[in-house]
Amino acid sequence: MAVQWVLVLHGLATLVVVVSFLCGQWPIFRRTPIASIHHFLTVGAYDYFLRCVGVLFGIRGTNAILEVERFCCDRPNPILQIIYLAIVGGTYFIVAKSCFSYIPGYYISGIHRYTSSLAVGIGLLLFLLTSFADPGTVKDDNVSQFLAAYPYDDIIYSGKECPTCKIPKPARSKHCSICDRCVARFDHHCGWMNNCIGERNTRYFMAFLLWHFLVCIYGVIAIGLVLAGQLKESRVIYVLTVYYRIENSFLSLAPHVLQWFVGSYDTQILLMVFLAIVALLLAGFFGYHASLCFTNTTTNETFKWQEYISWQRKLNEARASTAALRASVNGLSSDASPRESKWRAFFRRSPLEDAEPVVKENKYDKGLIKNIYEIIVPLSSRSSFSRKKSKVRRE
Ligand SMILES: [Zn+2]
Ligand SMILES: [Zn+2]
Repeated sequence: MAVQWVLVLHGLATLVVVVSFLCGQWPIFRRTPIASIHHFLTVGAYDYFLRCVGVLFGIRGTNAILEVERFCCDRPNPILQIIYLAIVGGTYFIVAKSCFSYIPGYYISGIHRYTSSLAVGIGLLLFLLTSFADPGTVKDDNVSQFLAAYPYDDIIYSGKECPTCKIPKPARSKHCSICDRCVARFDHHCGWMNNCIGERNTRYFMAFLLWHFLVCIYGVIAIGLVLAGQLKESRVIYVLTVYYRIENSFLSLAPHVLQWFVGSYDTQILLMVFLAIVALLLAGFFGYHASLCFTNTTTNETFKWQEYISWQRKLNEARASTAALRASVNGLSSDASPRESKWRAFFRRSPLEDAEPVVKENKYDKGLIKNIYEIIVPLSSRSSFSRKKSKVRRE
């Protein structure tokens, strides 16, 4: 009984930590222990660690840790690339070691030994393409091409110069502080790729996410088929129903079969759970980026739109309350108007509710098909913009 309670407490503690880490910043958790745990996990623990290092090793110790942090977070570095390669290589090695001896099996043919290597190889190729392809670096000699491809919308982008690169900043570009360069149609800086995700490599990045999701699903299904084949070949159902006299129904057999799997094939079960969790994470990440591509927006622009909408909303509310104030002053000055009852005043709409709603007017959204085509064939690489480039130069 005591062990069961320990397991329940362990499960609850894990759940609280995971929810706090992932969702602790949500407004619903404001001023709750979940928000405090989130703060501790994301900022507080590191601060305490820095203070401990300061007490133990003095200012030189703190400076050394800050230098490591600067290298890991603020400068281009291959740490996450190496971790990615270790995860893929390690997982494939364990899959090969624990499953290949059962291939070909009752439900799976021998060809999957080779197709699995091919699938992982294509994944690595997409990783290399995303990591090392030019994301669309804006330079002196190609800036006119990007300026022609991305006109200013005069809402979230207007003509400016990059203070660091000292060249005009095309609409939708951003100066990446980690790579220290301006990138066209900037989405985000990806630590896993050690590269920016921009105009020229979003296509590889999307293919990378989709392919890795499919490879994980392939892994789960293939291992599932290996285990199903083992179940069939070992005649476990026959042994359970004939020798142990367990009723031949799914509900009666399932716990025994599960116990047999966990007892005999724990590595394969763990691999399936791991691949399923990674597939879920990849599906979420791919879905988010696909929705951005479908509407021709970037991650960087979602922040810009949030800022613009909240600023515009405040402006509209200020206008609405000024208009309401003016109307009430006019009402007070005219003696003819009857006095409003207390009840009507109580239920009257707030002037803020009369504020005009803010509409997101994304001028780069040209419809689903054209938006997807823009990801596959970037605007600035099209011949029409190369011609415009030469025109701009002649002018
Ligand atoms: Zn720049
Ligand atoms: Zn970057």
